[in-house]
Amino acid sequence: MLTVEYGSATDQGPVRNRNEDCVLAEPRIFAVADGMGGHAAGDVAASLAVARLRDLAGRADLKPEDVRAAIDCANADILASSAGRDERTGMATTVSGLCVVRVGGADHWVAFNVGDSRVYRLAGGELSQISVDHSEVEELVTAGRLTRDEARWHPLRNIVTRSLGTNPAPTADLWVFPPTPGERFMVCSDGLPLELDDTEIRQLLTSVGTAQQAADLLVSQAVTAGGRDNVTAIVIDLVSAGSSSDADVVTVPRALLGEAQ
Ligand code: MG
Repeated sequence: MLTVEYGSATDQGPVRNRNEDCVLAEPRIFAVADGMGGHAAGDVAASLAVARLRDLAGRADLKPEDVRAAIDCANADILASSAGRDERTGMATTVSGLCVVRVGGADHWVAFNVGDSRVYRLAGGELSQISVDHSEVEELVTAGRLTRDEARWHPLRNIVTRSLGTNPAPTADLWVFPPTPGERFMVCSDGLPLELDDTEIRQLLTSVGTAQQAADLLVSQAVTAGGRDNVTAIVIDLVSAGSSSDADVVTVPRALLGEAQ
């Protein structure tokens, strides 16, 4: 049984007139949804996504397929909620997160992503971004036409290429991997890496004690640095991977790994 400690924080920031980020932090599932759509619609889309994932929180023996199914249901919920309501037409949301699943009889992580919210992992002092953004600028970086640093400030940085609330439904990317004691994760909305670069994120995640303190400080530093978008962060510390899962770690079928294109 995995043992985790976690904390979360969110801030509207001084520029936006509402907070359309929505956060889910339960002992075995963590997610950030960043709503889009003006008026109250972005909030609605983000809340619907989180509600479907919250349904997974109390279920035992989740599989990666259950997470994918919940994301598919959230997409359908958002479409249904916007049908016939002009003020909700086009509402959408990103969703990114981390969930404990059972694979081969052992607890594993599944990271998931649609859009440009992110999942990062800190292990052995190294920070890596697990999720791959579905965005115009990510495609330009992949094509070698932009550097990572240029992408942070690019005028197309807000254009996502996959989101929930679309027809046909988007494909969520999933990454399944075994737990490693001592690792720390951060799930965040795009407002955080807009203000803090990887060096600053790594420094904060490395130096701050508890998960709640780290989440609070990451969000407050991003707001202080400009806060041009809503900022949300969840920090998750793996305290113990549990003896039974240590004994049962299996090779994850290739089909479940890294479906990003
Ligand atoms: Mg945002």
